[in-house]
Amino acid sequence: MLYQRSSALFDEAQKYIPGGVNSPVRAFKSVGGVPVFMKSAKGAYMTDADDKVYIDYINSWGPAILGHTHPEVLAAIQKQAEKGFSFGTPTELETEIAKLIVENVPNIDQIRMVSSGTEACMSAIRLARGYTGRDKIIKFEGCYHGHSDSFLIKAGSGAATFGNPNSPGVTAGTAKDTLLARYNDFEQVEDLFRLNQGEIAAVIIEPVAGNMGCVLPENNFLQKLRTICDENKTLLIFDEVMTGFRLAFGGAQEIFNVKADLVTYGKVIGGGMPVGAFAGRNEIMDALAPKGAVYQAGTLSGNPLAMRAGLTTLELIKNDPDFYPRINKAAETLDFEIGKILNSKNIPHRINRKGSMMSVFFHVNSVSNFDEAAMANHSLFNNFFHQLLANGIYLPPSGYETWFISNAIQEKEIDKTLEVIRKFEYS
Ligand code: PMP
Repeated sequence: MLYQRSSALFDEAQKYIPGGVNSPVRAFKSVGGVPVFMKSAKGAYMTDADDKVYIDYINSWGPAILGHTHPEVLAAIQKQAEKGFSFGTPTELETEIAKLIVENVPNIDQIRMVSSGTEACMSAIRLARGYTGRDKIIKFEGCYHGHSDSFLIKAGSGAATFGNPNSPGVTAGTAKDTLLARYNDFEQVEDLFRLNQGEIAAVIIEPVAGNMGCVLPENNFLQKLRTICDENKTLLIFDEVMTGFRLAFGGAQEIFNVKADLVTYGKVIGGGMPVGAFAGRNEIMDALAPKGAVYQAGTLSGNPLAMRAGLTTLELIKNDPDFYPRINKAAETLDFEIGKILNSKNIPHRINRKGSMMSVFFHVNSVSNFDEAAMANHSLFNNFFHQLLANGIYLPPSGYETWFISNAIQEKEIDKTLEVIRKFEYS
């Protein structure tokens, strides 16, 4: 029987861990069925507790851009572990990775390391508020910036998947400072600025959204946000937790040629270890403790194992001039060929893709905001997901998530994936 051991492990896990998982999307609640428990991963593949092997299109939700357990990253972590894995003091390694990033990413002078994307976004907002002396922020429906209180208002990712985008436990006082606009709807942003003049500290956005499925900015949306933020002395925050070092080394700032005032990172920057970061110009970053008054700290921030994994990953990417063309090409092939197959089966769909981030919406119309993503046929997605899973293709378990293509996904894996999709039965 498929997933037999995973099923037993899930039963056991539910006794001790809320819902049996340490992060909600893992529970397969929206697609149904038993979450697959993995025991190892290498390159493009993951192996589950029943020894079934999958081609992985989640890649730890983005970090494993080189594929899993890359030999050079593994060796670097092992070597570092022998020297110690947490000092709680500054290390040379932290400056090394900060320098590499600051010198190669547009428009940032300083970077502060934290341990998750949530921390990065939460801290960036606090800094923006402290720097501007204002309280309100604008976020977009369907964007996810981690689970800190200010962001759990019409949030994407698991919050959208499970129908609780506005979480209980977030106080009305906090919620009132988070203003909402529709992604790609600049008029709504203008209205919010008009109604809250002089009060908006920051606009935070996923420059390519990945948490309502993959949704791209349209009609110079990012450029327009830049302009209105400048006009109102509001900080523009790009949440590049997904897009950073994935769309390009310089992330969405480089691809769209729009400068953000603060940028948050996570995922790829830690090479699979728990890392997040936020960065910006000197005048803003200098407001942070210990130099400035805005407080932020972390016992394990800049952890040497995490820094070593991140640094090695970033160096491998940076020293390979074909890296981005290669993963983008693999994603482009998947995009094109999956589209052809679904067309031949007369299945209405839209594939949204930027570089190596993509998702398939079973929807007749284009998807450029959360409402449109919600209109897609999610039960058909669930069916698609399960047929692929049973045949060894591991997609994100929700139509509100993005597929992440890794460098380990090559012709062989693409061919196998397409072969499985050709057999997809639409009922
Ligand atoms: N921002 C974005 C764009 C994300 O996709 C995520 C996580 N998927 C986060 C922030 C939060 O990161 P973490 O889960 O590491 O806290």
